[in-house]
Amino acid sequence: MSKILGIIGGGQLGMMITEAAKKMPEKISKIIVLDPTENCPASQVGAQQIVADFKDKNAIQNLAEQSDIITYEIESGDSDVLKSVEDKAEINPSPETLKIIQDKFLQKSFLLENKIPVPEFIEINSFNELQEGLKKFGFPALLKARRDAYDGRGNFKIDSQSEVQKAYDYFKGQKLMLEKFVPFKMEVSVIAARNTKGQIKTYPLVENIHEENILRETIAPARVMDTISKKAEDIANTTMSVLKGAGVFGIEMFVTQDDQILINEIAPRVHNSGHHTLQSSETSQFEQHLRAILGLELGGVKLLHQAIMYNILGSKNFEGEYLPIEISGDNIFLKMYGKKISKPLRKLGHLNVVGNPEDSLEDLFKKISSIKDKVETNPLN
Ligand code: AMP
Repeated sequence: MSKILGIIGGGQLGMMITEAAKKMPEKISKIIVLDPTENCPASQVGAQQIVADFKDKNAIQNLAEQSDIITYEIESGDSDVLKSVEDKAEINPSPETLKIIQDKFLQKSFLLENKIPVPEFIEINSFNELQEGLKKFGFPALLKARRDAYDGRGNFKIDSQSEVQKAYDYFKGQKLMLEKFVPFKMEVSVIAARNTKGQIKTYPLVENIHEENILRETIAPARVMDTISKKAEDIANTTMSVLKGAGVFGIEMFVTQDDQILINEIAPRVHNSGHHTLQSSETSQFEQHLRAILGLELGGVKLLHQAIMYNILGSKNFEGEYLPIEISGDNIFLKMYGKKISKPLRKLGHLNVVGNPEDSLEDLFKKISSIKDKVETNPLN
């Protein structure tokens, strides 16, 4: 029986989930997204849209009444509201899983309880506790908002005693945690899937390069020894088995100087570092997510071609309508998200450069660097 899919959030992730859903009409007959921006990316590729805030209780109820199954592309939803509509639609990942993940302190505590390695951290409830925490961890350390932070916007790196007050004031009124700074060798991630029946699959480890806390480039596979990839994939597998949520999850990790793997953060949704799977892998992360939440057998996760994903971010120096970005070439795949307005560092699209079997990663880097300047955003007028 074909189902109606509701998605909370209709940005680029909701867009690419919608596109994958459109390819399986025998399983999904209609897609409805809830998003505050009129004509959001997902609505441009065939999803119906309810225009409302992500946390609008009535709108979520309305979405649940119209849907058989609900999923989300953002982790900041209200898990209690989602829980209250569970009698109307199946929700995956479950509100219980979301509740653990969306609070970084609860998430790390949960991982630690399950013996999954994470950086050292403590809860911060007062300025005094922050001072005590810094005595324990030393400088630098990261003060983090527990909730509603993304693209690094909820972090303050405290380098010295003179910054402590400023860091504390920066987060006025928010729930906080402090984390020991990890001088990592590399940032990596695993895209992992678990279906409603408990089947788990993990994609090969990829390497992530950030600029100003925003993902810029993903290299698949990560340039590490096989033993490290194996260790990270095993940790991702264990994480999925204890978390019990159904869907695709992005598990971000650090490789430490002594080749340990620590989980930095889990996203209970398809993830930017999995966009390469659209052209590089047996099954894209978006189809995989649908398979997982529909309880279908998960698709293969083999990396068929090495790939580099490059995010197209709005230029830093302007905001407004931008000239269309056009790029084509052998094994170059451009995906724009249909956002009319460029803003500094806003994610506007991505580029996947995929290798032929005879290509080396170096060849892919060369290809990417020859086109990087063509994806700068420039004003339309
Ligand atoms: P987050 O928003 O917590 O995922 O952090 C954003 C970025 O901050 C990460 O991708 C890392 O580059 C950096 N970061 C976060 N936590 C730590 C840490 N404990 N040690 C070093 N860098 C960190």
